[in-house]
Amino acid sequence: MNEKYEAVIGLEIHVQMDTKTKMFCGCKVEFGAEPNTNVCPVCLGMPGALPVVNKKAVEYAIRASLTLNCEVHEESIFARKHYFYPDLPKNYQISQYEKPLATNGWVEIRLPDGETKKIRIRRLHIEEDAGKTIHRGDKSYVDLNRAGTPLMEIVTEPDIRTPEEARIFLEKLRNIMRYAGVSKADMEKGQLRCDINVSVRPKGSDKLGTKVEIKNVNSFRFVQKALEYEIERQIKVLEEGGKIVQETRTFDPQTGKTYTMRLKEEAEDYRYFPDPDLLPLKVSRELIEEIKNNMPELPDQRFERLIRDYGLSEYEAGILVNHKEVGDFFEEAVKHFNEPKGIVNWLINDLLGLLRDKGLSIEESPVKPEQLAELVKLIKEKVISTKIGKEVIKEMVETGKSPSQIVEEKGLKQITDENAIRELVKKIFEKHPKEVERLKNGEEKLIGFFVGQVMRETKGKANPQVVNKVIRELAKE
Ligand SMILES: [Zn+2]
Repeated sequence: MNEKYEAVIGLEIHVQMDTKTKMFCGCKVEFGAEPNTNVCPVCLGMPGALPVVNKKAVEYAIRASLTLNCEVHEESIFARKHYFYPDLPKNYQISQYEKPLATNGWVEIRLPDGETKKIRIRRLHIEEDAGKTIHRGDKSYVDLNRAGTPLMEIVTEPDIRTPEEARIFLEKLRNIMRYAGVSKADMEKGQLRCDINVSVRPKGSDKLGTKVEIKNVNSFRFVQKALEYEIERQIKVLEEGGKIVQETRTFDPQTGKTYTMRLKEEAEDYRYFPDPDLLPLKVSRELIEEIKNNMPELPDQRFERLIRDYGLSEYEAGILVNHKEVGDFFEEAVKHFNEPKGIVNWLINDLLGLLRDKGLSIEESPVKPEQLAELVKLIKEKVISTKIGKEVIKEMVETGKSPSQIVEEKGLKQITDENAIRELVKKIFEKHPKEVERLKNGEEKLIGFFVGQVMRETKGKANPQVVNKVIRELAKE
């Protein structure tokens, strides 16, 4: 990036709430159902049908607001946002505008250099999703199953300065939503969607440049890529004496570029007004307190706890926290064998890589937490060496067998019997008289040579400490 400029980035994120039913009717929220089967007069926008607020969705939105350190308002107002779209049967979307559920929060992110930074949250409001338009050949089809699905829109202040910060923020937000249990927040399933506002300005200036909106970027990587491209584009325009046009652009992952979609509409264009079918949303202090008091553990708390209770490094704790299921796997394994350092090492350095190679997630892992714990125990108790452990874990991922079964079947038990090792070393000494002479004359490096020979003979199963000891003893005889 051109050193003379800095980017000013704000995000608008739509998060689908993990409720069983829709925001204003009893229809099921279901991914991949037969088109237009989860619909009723309310979400089809039939005349006379009246919306009823989903209580669970309101509770989830309050919980999410609290996790983002927002102030939750006891009264908020549902408003109609008018626009025409084929998959929006009412021709308006129920949202919140002037009085949103929550405002003034923040999220702290951890940057790669270890520094932390607060990104302020301007507001969080509740709204409903539209349906889906599907284009096949020269025809378009409308599926209204998604119409009315409960969403939260989360808007940040323009506190983000780099594409990387944007990605880190989004990953953190996704984690918070998952830990809070309010959304699966899976970008691939559209449960978390991101619009980006970005402008550039000369470094040191506190005036905002003209902003451009990039709509619906659907992966963390693409958010970073879209921003990298767009920031360069805007700088180039300014450097060439041009002007940035306020507009909505779209990102094409194929080309890695953004393209003009339409000129930006203003909020006034939507003719917002309070929805006469819905009373102001009232939430009591008691309800907010109750939700606050029953909050599940959040990523930052877990991060601290993993370091404090298990003695993990920040790096290790970071990996476990960023992938909730990996963290759960770790904690379950530690219950079976209390050796956190050993377990985290085998988990991060071996198991995750082997699973990745097979395209499996941790939930699909053929190796269960208790089996990883067992492996670490076998190594700790010197039944097998670390080296053999690497072979065993590969076999575990392939077959799903327990480590002790694999060790048994393949005869991989470590040889720790001193007498057996002594006999073997004696035989090897007989084969290599010259090397024995040199060792006896003080050439220490030959110990390595003999250890290597023993390991070759035992296929790596001899206990290295015992082998070392025996070689030294015999060399003195
Ligand atoms: Zn419905």
